Amino acid sequence: MVKTEKARGPTTDVLRKRKTTLLSKIKVPPDQLRASYVSQYLTCGKKNCRCQRGFKHGPFYYLVQCFGTGQVRKFLLKTSAQRKQARAGIAAHLKWQRQLAELSEINTELLRRGEKISG
Ligand SMILES: [Zn+2]
Repeated sequence: MVKTEKARGPTTDVLRKRKTTLLSKIKVPPDQLRASYVSQYLTCGKKNCRCQRGFKHGPFYYLVQCFGTGQVRKFLLKTSAQRKQARAGIAAHLKWQRQLAELSEINTELLRRGEKISG
């Protein structure tokens, strides 16, 4: 018996159309931020402060960025305008990353099928 490889997934034409549509949508978001948005409650150094009894200060919001092993940059987002922009920038970055990942998936499949992926 001869094993035949079944055709799986969308046709090459469908993949190419998806790629064209995707490329028309992908734009570098001007506000993109590769970061995380983190909230923290903190204790201060003062004795007899309410935070020493469990009522911590905050929440404080931070933008956190990782640059490889042990290299973390973090800063306090002081205003609500900063926090809003940070959340929007992070969301824009994630959406952009998902689009790039989808493009990579399509290109991988086209390459596997012996198709041209440039141009
Ligand atoms: Zn305190």
